[in-house]
Amino acid sequence: MTNRIFYTRPSITELETGYAADAAANGWGARCYDYINRFERDFAAYLGSGFATATSSCTGAMHMGLAALGISPGDEVILADTNWVATVAPVVHLGAKPVFVDVLPDTWCIDPAAVQRSITPRTKAIIATHIYGNLCDMDALMEIGKQRGVAVVEDAAEAIGSIWRGRRAGSIGAFGTFSFHGTKTLTTGEGGMLVTSDADLYEKVLTLSNHGRARGSKKQFWPDAIGFKYKMSNVQAAIGCAQLERIDELVARKREILAAYMLRLSPLNGISMNPEYTGTINGAWMPTAVFHPATGITREMLQQAFETADIDARVFFHPLSSLSMFEDKPGNINAWSIPERAINLPSYHDMSEADIDRVAETLLSVVRSHRNNSAVRPRQSA
Ligand SMILES: *Cc1c(COP(=O)(O)O)cnc(C)c1O
Repeated sequence: MTNRIFYTRPSITELETGYAADAAANGWGARCYDYINRFERDFAAYLGSGFATATSSCTGAMHMGLAALGISPGDEVILADTNWVATVAPVVHLGAKPVFVDVLPDTWCIDPAAVQRSITPRTKAIIATHIYGNLCDMDALMEIGKQRGVAVVEDAAEAIGSIWRGRRAGSIGAFGTFSFHGTKTLTTGEGGMLVTSDADLYEKVLTLSNHGRARGSKKQFWPDAIGFKYKMSNVQAAIGCAQLERIDELVARKREILAAYMLRLSPLNGISMNPEYTGTINGAWMPTAVFHPATGITREMLQQAFETADIDARVFFHPLSSLSMFEDKPGNINAWSIPERAINLPSYHDMSEADIDRVAETLLSVVRSHRNNSAVRPRQSA
């Protein structure tokens, strides 16, 4: 028996298992796309986007979207240094050059001023990743994109439920991508979605996603270009349909858990969590605690305390530029410094209040014991 608190675990009810069983028993032949079509239609409606294409992963959706924009060797794509490697892999696969820029200290999302400074005549796209559910400044990014003639696209893998001034994350840029990996708020085990309101881009993605075969083409088994095969299966889509029916409940619980942590940690100075600015809603995929440098609290202290307390300790994303495949960019000060003093907190749907208490108490105890061991008083957080 373990009392371990896991950082994530999906919420699967009889609705999901019922739809999955139906797809497995009946979703073949003439009905083999029924749940896929329904999931795409309902997802587009939920997002407020014109079109949605279900994929096998968010990585695949990003790969096809960037390919549909014509990203190719010699092009540059700007993205935040703070990112999961999935966001940059498609850029590299397409032969383009990733340009990593710093993030803002409060949202941990891409810094629009840094984007502005990094644009060159070769820049073809800007990827706005809404990290941990926090929102990028989409007004500033869209304005830069418009002025400089560069496409802005959204990696909304972590941002289902997040809303920027009335528009859902993922529905604002040229296209948006989502992940339904087992750790995400809405899951199909593995899976993803590309959404766009650009009919031409949608047609390009559809053709690419069907091995380069255009819709309505008369000639059988005749690709016009080399495309991709990143499709979602009907059984996965069935689970997705059920999760989407429950999306408000799933997001509400994420937000509740983040709020519960904030309340418990509020007596502490020098700690910040996922922000939610006026006019926005944070989908709160992953509650994250970042300590101010003056507190002296490090990732290693946090990992040690969580290990002792039998709680999963998930580290904040390493800067992509620190990976061996890329050139170090320690000048991206926030992206390089935040992970050294941060930790992601468990946040699964069925987490109990006692579990939340235990996690918060573990964080509080790290601060208390560090204070006793050092003369440094934490400064007021910004
Ligand atoms: C999870 C995630 C992805 C990748 O999603 P997959 O479905 O695993 O391909 C991409 N970007 C971000 C920011 C993610 O969190």
